[in-house]
Amino acid sequence: MPSPIGHALAGLAAAWAVDLVPGERAWRRGPGSGSWFGRAGNGLTLACVALGAAPDLDLLFAGHRTVTHSLGAVVLVGAFAAALAAYAQRPVIRVASMCAAAYATHLFTDWLAIDVSQPRGIQALWPFSREWFISGLDLFGRTERRHLWTSATMATNLATLLQELVILGPPVVALWLVRVKALARLPSEMARRDHAAE
Ligand SMILES: [Zn+2]
Repeated sequence: MPSPIGHALAGLAAAWAVDLVPGERAWRRGPGSGSWFGRAGNGLTLACVALGAAPDLDLLFAGHRTVTHSLGAVVLVGAFAAALAAYAQRPVIRVASMCAAAYATHLFTDWLAIDVSQPRGIQALWPFSREWFISGLDLFGRTERRHLWTSATMATNLATLLQELVILGPPVVALWLVRVKALARLPSEMARRDHAAE
């Protein structure tokens, strides 16, 4: 299973990918001279980064890779995000799809990864099925969570992290570059929004 850093990168990629969909997105853009945080999409991007890693919080409880690693959970996350967006008067579908997509990347990357624990994979179809799913493609490495500071564990986790950076780094960088260009074309939309706010 990928590391929390790999999952967080996938969540970030999901947030920026959804931002490329045309529509009401001027509020997702900081000015070119603004902070990195603003240009990256503020707190919602950060929330997507956290959502990418969040399903593994089930390690704190029983039932790792079950309910939290399912399409049912993706729907619940989307619904909750939609409710928050409606409350905050933000574009509901955009925010919900951004959060659901970020969460779903976790399922997808776990499904693509090596899993040495039994049963292998994730219960992707909860609540309809308790069946476990894994692709067998072993695209991402495994993360060792026991005996963290032994050399064998550190070597395993470092190799997994490097593999994640090689696979997820280029799309994240590409999305950032496209984001900078695409969102720079929105000054007219920004002006309309500012005008409406006055
Ligand atoms: Zn997981």
